[in-house]
Amino acid sequence: MVCEHLAALEKELLASGAEVTYRGQSWSKNCREWVYFEVRLDADSLMKRFSFDPCVQVHENKDSKSGLEHSLYCSKCHDGVMGNVSAKGIYR
Ligand SMILES: [Zn+2]
Repeated sequence: MVCEHLAALEKELLASGAEVTYRGQSWSKNCREWVYFEVRLDADSLMKRFSFDPCVQVHENKDSKSGLEHSLYCSKCHDGVMGNVSAKGIYR
């Protein structure tokens, strides 16, 4: 599981049936795990709905091909919950 700051969102996404396409974990000192869900994340809406700690930030990956990727990233633990901009469903 991702860190405590993002765990509530991850749990909810898993409960919603969103498919996990990739989960990466390194065994370094930092708990560092990135989870990719096959769903578009409306990060702005999620930020309002969950009361995340200030360490959780919206992570944008601007790419000319894929467009705008919205994901949530914990700057403290270096964990992330990533969406897929080309997925059909949008999660708010
Ligand atoms: Zn964290």
